[in-house]
Amino acid sequence: MQLETTWVRELPGTYASVTLAVPSAPRLVAFNGPLADALGLDADVVRANASDWLSGAGLPPGASPIAQAYAGHQFGGLSPQLGDGRAALLGEWVDASGRRWDVALKGSGRTPFSRGGDGKAALGPMLREWVIGEALTALGVPASRALAVVATGDPVLRERRLQGAVLTRVASSHLRVGTLEYYALRGGLVQLHRLVGYALARHHPEARGASPALALLTAVRDAQAALVAQWMAVGFVHGVLNTDNVTLSGESIDFGPCAFVERHDPATVFSSIDTQGRYAYGNQPSITQWNLARLASALLPVIDDDDDVAVAAAREIVGGWGEVFEARMREAWARKLGVTVSDVGCIDGFLALLHAHRPDHTLAFRGLGAALREDRSVWARAGLAGPDVDAWYAAWRPVVTATRAVADAAAILDAVNPAVIARNHRVEGALASASAGDFGPVERLVAALQSPYDAALLDTELADPAPDGFTEGYQTFCGT
Ligand code: AMP
Ligand code: MG
Repeated sequence: MQLETTWVRELPGTYASVTLAVPSAPRLVAFNGPLADALGLDADVVRANASDWLSGAGLPPGASPIAQAYAGHQFGGLSPQLGDGRAALLGEWVDASGRRWDVALKGSGRTPFSRGGDGKAALGPMLREWVIGEALTALGVPASRALAVVATGDPVLRERRLQGAVLTRVASSHLRVGTLEYYALRGGLVQLHRLVGYALARHHPEARGASPALALLTAVRDAQAALVAQWMAVGFVHGVLNTDNVTLSGESIDFGPCAFVERHDPATVFSSIDTQGRYAYGNQPSITQWNLARLASALLPVIDDDDDVAVAAAREIVGGWGEVFEARMREAWARKLGVTVSDVGCIDGFLALLHAHRPDHTLAFRGLGAALREDRSVWARAGLAGPDVDAWYAAWRPVVTATRAVADAAAILDAVNPAVIARNHRVEGALASASAGDFGPVERLVAALQSPYDAALLDTELADPAPDGFTEGYQTFCGT
């Protein structure tokens, strides 16, 4: 596991070198063998060394831990100084296909950016990052993933005394909108230019534009549009879309208060601190455009020396969000319904059913394949039935079976609409068991979530919606 450190070498002035907190009794509690394999790491070697290399006790070869500086707009207000307060980038791993991945620890102790925080993380939230990263990845949604979780043996004081843990997070990078905001705020033109060049080369090498900054802005817009459309399709609510949690790569990161919707409802909010519903399920597209405008502002000084020229060019790109996002969203809905984007009636009709009936989002889509086979049991479980459903079905069925046999059409639908997602009551139950020392439930949950389309899982309790009343009272927290 020989790490590289291009960030340290190429981006001086954008980080602080840090010393990691040494855990008193590190114990590996979760190891992501499939991820290690996918990255071309020697899984046996990494696993054998994980409680040392991936806990703060020691370091993997080549590592040079740093805390990255960033700012961020949090719930609409500017926080000029955030940064990695409890995380450290160890270095980068380059896989067999030449892709570069950040390998970072979370919960590894205080840094110059910790402000009043303790730099620590608790076991439950770190396991949650593992579960959600695997769930999204298996659904084809770009997301950071946990390579390992190591319990530290040290307590973490929150409202209660909790077990401490360190997460090893693998991401395309941790470059955020807030990274650029930080240097824009300080007039750090040199760092801004370097960061733009680095981000383009690493994430969007094919991007083109009148300037590198405009190329980056366009590429981030397009990547975020694709990402948010996928979130909407699977019913994912990120929960805290502050600009410091929005990546330039277009990958989902920071799984604190995130959760999946049960009943389809645009107003769904789980986060305890999101009292205004700013980051509600249905607000994610518009709030991402707002975040993109913050990126555009940060980039202005490196877009053009003439302010008016820079603003006009940036405005045009940010203004294009609606069209780009809508195109990605239509493609995603069309795919889930087995139709093409031009089958507007089918798409709008089904979305209208979701709004009118508020069925279970996941089972409403999964029930499409069964419905084609004249089996409405999944839709019944979703709470989707009625004359309007029958009417929509009668119009949709000939469209989706026009060019293929019913069995083939149903199989295609089953292959794109998951039978299981990381349902909140299952996640909470599994994490509670793990915190009490039994890791079986969370291991089984993660294993099941690796094959979310598997029809056999439909017959298990993992596919069941949360019991009545659970979702209404369900709150998530920022993992601090
Ligand atoms: P998050 O809500 O995890 O995205 O974190 C927002 C900001 O708070 C980031 O700058 C974090 O580094 C910082 N932060 C969160 N928890 C802690 C902690 N326990 N100690 C120090 N900094 C923290
Ligand atoms: Mg964050």
